[in-house]
Amino acid sequence: MGAITLLPEERQRRIREWVLDQGDVKISDLSAKLHVSEMTIHRDLKPLLAEGIVKKTYGGVMSTVKEVQHSAAPHQCVYCQRQCNPRLACRIIRLNGNVEIACCGHCGFLQLQRVKDVDQLLVQDFLLNTTFSAKHGWFVMESSFNVHCCQPQLLPFEQQEVAEKFVKGFGGLVLSYKEALDVLIEKMNHATCFSKRTTDGEGE
Ligand SMILES: [Zn+2]
Ligand SMILES: [Zn+2]
Repeated sequence: MGAITLLPEERQRRIREWVLDQGDVKISDLSAKLHVSEMTIHRDLKPLLAEGIVKKTYGGVMSTVKEVQHSAAPHQCVYCQRQCNPRLACRIIRLNGNVEIACCGHCGFLQLQRVKDVDQLLVQDFLLNTTFSAKHGWFVMESSFNVHCCQPQLLPFEQQEVAEKFVKGFGGLVLSYKEALDVLIEKMNHATCFSKRTTDGEGE
């Protein structure tokens, strides 16, 4: 097995996984694992730092998500006040650096609409549990897979391909960030947050 040079995006994806998995990593370790210079690692980390997923430590970076996961259990949703399920919870990073937790993608998007000074909305991939910026993600709406949080559900997926596969199994629509925001707002103008909906009789 020779050393493979990975594309920057691929390195960033791995770094993100390592940081989220281990809590903190050293620049020197990343450089050794990925077979690139420490300078390159510093460059790779820039977008992750900007996204608020990691923060600098002495000689490395640490996950900002871990802190939230620890406190997620007793946390209430900033939007609907229900108890947050760490698996569905998402984080709203305000421009002033404050972090708010919403119970699910649904409330994350609504909070994004309610407060205007949002820097990032960080969501977790519904299947893979990776954390990413909602802007780059895909959202499944109206799936028959009920996660028992707010309706209409918005299940986040980092890759469109995975979202499409999920829809093949559980139904629903795959929406981009922008579409999800528009559709949710449109629907919320016509319904209450917790209205139940069955998928009966929707065949074509
Ligand atoms: Zn909520
Ligand atoms: Zn919810």
